[in-house]
Amino acid sequence: MEAAGASNIKVTDSVIEYSGFTFLLLDALDSLSVEKVQFNNAVIIDGKDPDFIRHIVRRIRSNNSPDIYLKPIFILKGININDPFVNRLCDGTIFSLEQIEFIIPTVEKILTKVNDLKFTNSISFEAQMIEKTINFMYTCDVFDLDPVPYVYSGINYSYPILSVNFRQTEEYSVLDILDIAEREGIFESEYYDRVYLCSNCSNGHLTYREVCPKCGSSHSSTEDIVHHFPCGYVGPITDFKNEIDDQLDCPKCDKRLRHIGVDYDKPSILHECKNCSHKFQDYNVKAKCLNCLTDNGVEVLKGREIRRYRLTKKGELAAINGFVSTSKDIDEIIGTVKFDTFKTMLKYEIERLRQTEGSSNICAIHITNPSQVYSKIGSEVQKGLLKDLVRVIRSNIRSSDVITFQSSSTIVLSMNEIPMRIAKRILEEIIVMLKRLMNTAFKNMEVNFETNVMSLDYKLSPELHIQQLTKEFK
Ligand SMILES: [Zn+2]
Ligand SMILES: [Zn+2]
Ligand SMILES: [Zn+2]
Repeated sequence: MEAAGASNIKVTDSVIEYSGFTFLLLDALDSLSVEKVQFNNAVIIDGKDPDFIRHIVRRIRSNNSPDIYLKPIFILKGININDPFVNRLCDGTIFSLEQIEFIIPTVEKILTKVNDLKFTNSISFEAQMIEKTINFMYTCDVFDLDPVPYVYSGINYSYPILSVNFRQTEEYSVLDILDIAEREGIFESEYYDRVYLCSNCSNGHLTYREVCPKCGSSHSSTEDIVHHFPCGYVGPITDFKNEIDDQLDCPKCDKRLRHIGVDYDKPSILHECKNCSHKFQDYNVKAKCLNCLTDNGVEVLKGREIRRYRLTKKGELAAINGFVSTSKDIDEIIGTVKFDTFKTMLKYEIERLRQTEGSSNICAIHITNPSQVYSKIGSEVQKGLLKDLVRVIRSNIRSSDVITFQSSSTIVLSMNEIPMRIAKRILEEIIVMLKRLMNTAFKNMEVNFETNVMSLDYKLSPELHIQQLTKEFK
C-alpha cells in the first residue's frame, strides 16, 4: 500500500477505492494492457507524458468491449493537454487525487447511462462502429459529432470517438460509415468543409505542386515576359538584361527601357522546366500523396464532404435498444441473398407447392452465443467467419437453394423439393462441418449452434414460416 499525494487516498495495486467506486490508476510505468479496465468503474491516467496519454486513451476507446470502451476516463494533470483528440475522448481532469470526490457525480452519471444500453452484436463492421459511436455519445450526453481538424488524421479531420477505431491509413472509412449512419436516420448533418483524398489510397496528406505539363517535374524557374512598346518586341526578361548594370535594354532596338506602363509592360510570365527544358505559361497542378507517393492530377482526387453530425431521436433510441445492422454488408457475403429477396422467393415456392405435389423446406441455423463469439474476434475476422459459414452451407446444398441472414446470428436457407427427413440429415451434416471449421479456426472459443427445419405449408405466409422457424431460438 502506498500513499499517492493525499493522506486519505490509498492506492492498492493501481486501484483506488472511493465512495463505493473503483478507479484504475494508469501511469507510464504500467503495462499498456487495458484488460484491467473492465474490472473497475473508471480510469485515471497520470498525465505526465502526452504520448502515453494519447496511446492509452486510444487503447481504451478503440476496444470493442463496452466494459472497456465506455468507461469514464480522467486525466490526473501534470501538464496541459492540448490534443483536441484526447480532450474529446476523456471525461474530465483532476489536479490531484484529493479531487477524486469532484468526479464522482460524472462517474455515477455515465455508469447509470451505460446501464440503459442494450448491446447487439451486428455482423456488419459498419454497424458495429456506428453502435460504438452512438453508445459513447449517449453515455456522455453528447449529441454532436463534430469534425476536429487534426494533423494526425489520415483525412485531416477527426471524429474522435469514431476515428479512434481506425489506423491513420484507413481513416477514410470513417466518412463511409457516417454516410451509412445518416442514411439509416441515426444522424442528421450539415456541411462543414471539403477534403481531397488520394485517388489511389484515399489518404488526405497531399502535397500540391505546380509541375511541367510535359514531364511532370516540379523543378522549374519562372521569369517575366517583357513587351517593349516602341518596337513591339516581346521576350523573356533575360533577353533585356545586360552584364553591367541592372537596367533593361531592348535586344531588338537597343533602346533602354524607362518606365513600366509607359514604354514597356510585363504582360505575362514564362516557366522553364529544369528537367526537360520545356517552356510553358501554364503549370499543371499535381498532388503527391505522402502515404503511397502517387502523384495525382488534381482532377482525379476524391473530393469528400466533411459534415457535422447530430444524433437524432432515432439515433438515441438505437443506442438504448441496440443498433440493428443495415443489410449493407450482408449483401457482401457471397452466396447469400437479401432477406427480402429470400422472402419473395419463399412466396413463389409456397405458391408453386399449392399447385403441385411435393415437399420443400426452410431451415435455420442460429449461433446461440454470438456476443461471446463476436466480442472475442475482430470485425474483419467476424466477416471472414460468416463467409466461411456460408461457404460450408453452400457446399452442402443445391445451387438452386438460397441462403440469407435474418440477423447477425441467424442464417435461414431453403431446401426445396426434398423430403423433410433428408433436409434434417443435411442440416446435421452441415453442423458437424461447421463445428469442425470453428474448432480449427478458433482454438479457445466455443461456437454453439441451434437449428430448426420446417416443411413449407401452402396455407401459411412466408412471414409466418420464418416466425415459426425461429421462434424457439434464444
Ligand atoms: Zn519538364
Ligand atoms: Zn525595342
Ligand atoms: Zn495515396
